[in-house]
Amino acid sequence: MKKVLVTGGTGLVGKALETVIKKEQPTDEKWFFAGSKDGDLTNLASTQALFEREKPTHVIHLAALVGGLFYNMNNNLDFLRNNLLINDHVLQTAHEQGCKKVVSCLSTCIFPDKTSYPIDETMVHNGPPHPSNYGYSYAKRLIDIQNHAYHDKYGHLYTSVIPCNIFGPHDNYKPEGHVIPGLINRMYKLRLDQPDVPEGEKVFTVFGSGKPLRQFIYSLDLAKLIIWVLRNYDSVEPIVLSVDEEQEVTILEVAQAIAKALNFKGKLVCDTSKADGQYKKTASNAKLRSLLPNFVFTNFETAIKESVQWYVDNYNQARK
Ligand code: NDP
Repeated sequence: MKKVLVTGGTGLVGKALETVIKKEQPTDEKWFFAGSKDGDLTNLASTQALFEREKPTHVIHLAALVGGLFYNMNNNLDFLRNNLLINDHVLQTAHEQGCKKVVSCLSTCIFPDKTSYPIDETMVHNGPPHPSNYGYSYAKRLIDIQNHAYHDKYGHLYTSVIPCNIFGPHDNYKPEGHVIPGLINRMYKLRLDQPDVPEGEKVFTVFGSGKPLRQFIYSLDLAKLIIWVLRNYDSVEPIVLSVDEEQEVTILEVAQAIAKALNFKGKLVCDTSKADGQYKKTASNAKLRSLLPNFVFTNFETAIKESVQWYVDNYNQARK
């Protein structure tokens, strides 16, 4: 019987894993989804207590201080220190407690700023990250270094996945969060805040030029892929978990898809005085495709529709 501990089990990706596992009901695995109430992972004693209580054989390590472009830009020190502490405590405690496998989460936004495209797993350490999020990026990059060091010294199978931008139910809709939940939240609130303005005359502002390109993965698709990695991927080297390169969309196209899902009939304008971040960070999922050629990603518009519907249905409880 595998005992799987999911750190960050109450977040966007953790909740998606829980949804998929509830549907699957595996008979040879027991899952525990830990949030910060179950143990503060920036604290070593509290991390050890969580592992002693749950006695995991396998760990999916998602817990992190996570935020969007604007929050990252002003808080690099916090992102660096919190994530360094969390990652070191989780990996070392997993080692001390004899966990067989740890799958940790990196991100495509930690790749070098100046690079050729598409980016792939071999390029994580090839140059400095974008200055806006260097704290988060270096802390995440060190997970890969640490995984290799545990493998070299003890032969452990501690590995990592590199997702592109993620969205879905249970997202973080706070203003300092990521682009999709931020757009959903602001567009929905515009409606609520301007009941007297006729629908066609409402104006919604997209921050930045709307031109940057991004790959977005639906959290439920990512959850299925992470479960596959846990069960089947036996390498220390990271693996990119992303939609295909052709599925890249502009930020403006994202806003249009959300407008469609919300049935928003007003005008969308781009505020070019706001930062764009990296223009693109196209990632190659060739490694994933070579191992799992037939995986079908949920259609982007369908996934946006489901995510918007979740937000509308759960407006009062959503993190915002
Ligand atoms: P969320 O912000 O939705 O959730 C973060 C999770 O981490 C929560 O469960 C939170 O617990 C937990 N957490 C944070 N600080 C601590 C702490 N000190 N002790 C214990 N638990 C803590 O994150 P996501 O689900 O979006 O992200 C999951 C992983 O995916 C992260 O590693 C992130 O870096 C990575 N990632 C995310 C992307 C995205 O677009 N969202 C893109 C690429 C990678 P609680 O809520 O209970 O406080």
